[in-house]
Amino acid sequence: MAEIITKTPLVLAVDDDVITRQLAQDMLTDQGFEIITAADGDSALALFKRASAEGRPVDVVLLDVEMPGKDGYEVCKLIRRLADGRNVPIIMISGREGADAAKRAYDVAATDFSNKPTNWLVLAQRLHYVMRASKAVNELKRNHQRLADAQNAAKLHYWEYDIEAGYFYFLRTTGSIDTFQKGQLQTVEELIRHTHPADRSRLEAFAKKITRRISPISSSIEHRVLDPKDKESFRVLLTQGHVDFSTQEFGSAPKRLIGISQDITDIRRTEDRIQRLAHFDELTGLYNRYSFKENLQTALELNQAADNKLAIFHIGIDGFKRINESFGHHIGDSVLQEFVQRLSGDLLANEIVDQGIGMKNMARLGGDECILMLTCNRKNPKLYASRVAERIKEKLATAFYIAAERKAGNGEDLEIFVSASIGIAMYPDDGQDEQTLLKNADTALHNAKDSGKNQYQFYNDLMSVTGKAHLELETELRRAIEHNQLELYYQPQVSASSGEVTGVEALVRWHHPQRGMVSPAEFIPLAEESGLILPMSDWIMTQACQQAKAWSDDGLPPFMVSINLSGIQFRQSNFEQIVEQIFIHTGVDPTRIGLELTESVVMGDAQNTIATLNALKELGVKLSIDDFGTGYSSLSYLQKFPLDTLKVDRSFIKDIGENSDDTAITEAIIAMGHSLGLEIIAEGVETQAQLDFLRARSCEIIQGFFFSRPLPASEIPAFVSAHRQHSSHLNTPAKNGAQDLFENENKPTSSA
Ligand code: C2E
Ligand code: CA
Ligand code: CA
Repeated sequence: MAEIITKTPLVLAVDDDVITRQLAQDMLTDQGFEIITAADGDSALALFKRASAEGRPVDVVLLDVEMPGKDGYEVCKLIRRLADGRNVPIIMISGREGADAAKRAYDVAATDFSNKPTNWLVLAQRLHYVMRASKAVNELKRNHQRLADAQNAAKLHYWEYDIEAGYFYFLRTTGSIDTFQKGQLQTVEELIRHTHPADRSRLEAFAKKITRRISPISSSIEHRVLDPKDKESFRVLLTQGHVDFSTQEFGSAPKRLIGISQDITDIRRTEDRIQRLAHFDELTGLYNRYSFKENLQTALELNQAADNKLAIFHIGIDGFKRINESFGHHIGDSVLQEFVQRLSGDLLANEIVDQGIGMKNMARLGGDECILMLTCNRKNPKLYASRVAERIKEKLATAFYIAAERKAGNGEDLEIFVSASIGIAMYPDDGQDEQTLLKNADTALHNAKDSGKNQYQFYNDLMSVTGKAHLELETELRRAIEHNQLELYYQPQVSASSGEVTGVEALVRWHHPQRGMVSPAEFIPLAEESGLILPMSDWIMTQACQQAKAWSDDGLPPFMVSINLSGIQFRQSNFEQIVEQIFIHTGVDPTRIGLELTESVVMGDAQNTIATLNALKELGVKLSIDDFGTGYSSLSYLQKFPLDTLKVDRSFIKDIGENSDDTAITEAIIAMGHSLGLEIIAEGVETQAQLDFLRARSCEIIQGFFFSRPLPASEIPAFVSAHRQHSSHLNTPAKNGAQDLFENENKPTSSA
């Protein structure tokens, strides 16, 4: 209304009669209209268009029917074809009376019809009225369109349910769900037939509820509709809106239910994507860091209750940055995908699926780093974890073939070799909560990277003494070497058949002035990292050789002295010369010296290893493989090396008789070792039962707390002679029994 008052309405008056035009001009101007006039159809159309073009569109048209050239009907039709003409009120005025003229006017979509002669005052009122009416109609049309647009956008369908007839009537507003045809009638049964089988019973119950127990409260259900064409299913939210009583007498039963159904396929799809982005890594499909933390937390709760051990593997691709830089990011991405594929494929099949928890155990932390958690419900969780780590390394041993078509265009695959470093943190030993475990696994990973990559490392407390503390410890260790705080203990090795001492293993001890006894398992990794391992190993070897010479000089019956070698020490280019120098310097008989190497040390570079081992053998020493069974070497691989002895790792011995797997492995190792002509030493023998088992399998030598803990050098002669004269002591356990590693070791009575 306000519009009409503020803006003078523009009237286009069309008449071939000049007098009528003049009258219209005068009379309507007086009534508050602005008038433009045209004498024929063509100029009327031109004027109409110009007014629109000038931004002052015609508000109402007065159109004479009888005109030379185009008559009023034709002009009316043409105006209706114009953009602004579709809804403009047109009043047709005719000199001819009768229903026929009026009918023709309405047929060409005129708004109103009037006869000549014109009563201008009445006409002015009529103009006001048609303008108001057409404004209301236009508004209605516009609202209707808006509503339809909104419905389309929301993919809303309107439906009615005729309670008596039992039919749904769907009014289709969008093409997305063809199952609901406009005007199609459907029974509840038909509706259900079009529904995804998994949702049918729910929908049926819902339909029953809304059609039988009519409730005025709106309720809704989400279900999937099968699209017969695509076979794709749509997600639909079916909402019962209200109950229509309108056509009924007051108090009678309702006749119709009214509701909407909405195609929410896209909404759900988007939600799914958001869900995925929030929880998963897009590139690999693995969980992301955030979800992994949650999964880990749950796993920790479960495992705490079950008293299980967990291993957390933090895995990083070595040199991933270089791959990205030299081949581009898309190749880097493919490498990552393949990497995850290899890790998850076979590994999952054998280890994770085994545990029935699937991909929940793996995540990508970003960049090239992945994380894996495993429940290690085994006797020796660390051994199990190290096997998995070896498996991971093995999985990566063959080349990656990455399609390079985007790069070169020749479609040839790029051959890339990928290795990984792995840091492992064990729950509960290395942390009780997910944050500590992740941090420690990360620390172990960095340690593995720093010490040469393509390897795994278990977390140990010394790794996290960073910066200053680390330096302090290193300084202390350096001082310990200079100030004789290191001492060698010797653990006897006893013949299984005669009970005599056949040798001793030298095991280093650090008497720390404040910390007390520090375990070699802790400070040897630190020494390796800082390079201190070399002077330390020289000291150990010299010390052990001097001791062996001293025992021999003292007239003790001959026995072997075994020395543990570190990989770093072994890989020195002139290692055999260093050893020879020590032999010459100490005057020891090299045939009395044994050297112990772990599988991982010999597994390195086979050619160099064989050369070094041969050179060492030529000096006269005995060579043994330490901790056998924990690495990943096969006996046939070891066949290439000039070895004398296999030391079966104590984790197997521990479970003899208890764990049938480990029992079988031990049996197999002994049998195969013998077939290769190797002597077998069993480590960590603590019980009579273990001893009996090993003796029955002809294991030659026994080492372990059952006979003795590592002893200070000064106590060895007594032990040797005791076991020499009374071979009946064979079954006599150590007095102090099998207890904690350091607890009962005597304080040194003398230092050699
Ligand atoms: P290893 O070479 O496997 O040494 C055997 C370990 O098992 C020793 O621990 C020994 O005390 C322990 N042990 C022996 N019998 C039993 C038993 O019946 N039950 C149990 N539970 N344990 C038993 P230790 O002395 O703590 O040494 C740990 C590791 O540190 C050694 O494992 C070796 O890898 C390294 N290590 C020790 N001394 C040296 C050394 O002089 N040089 C180098 N490079 N490494 C050394
Ligand atoms: Ca050893
Ligand atoms: Ca060992």
